[in-house]
Amino acid sequence: MEDHPVKIPQHRHCRKCGRAFVGEGDYCCEECKQQDGAAAKKKIRRYMLFIAVVWIVTIAAVIIIGV
Ligand SMILES: [Zn+2]
Repeated sequence: MEDHPVKIPQHRHCRKCGRAFVGEGDYCCEECKQQDGAAAKKKIRRYMLFIAVVWIVTIAAVIIIGV
């Protein structure tokens, strides 16, 4: 009687929904990839906006204090 060890196929966990899947990439399906990509883009846009606001406030403060 041969003892075959149970082979667990190499799998990844989807970055979007956390579901295990077999294959390449970071996402289980194209939908998750697109959704997470859109969310990441939104996050970056919000971050850029935050930086812009910080800059505007800093420049405004310099102008107000400087005058
Ligand atoms: Zn997924």
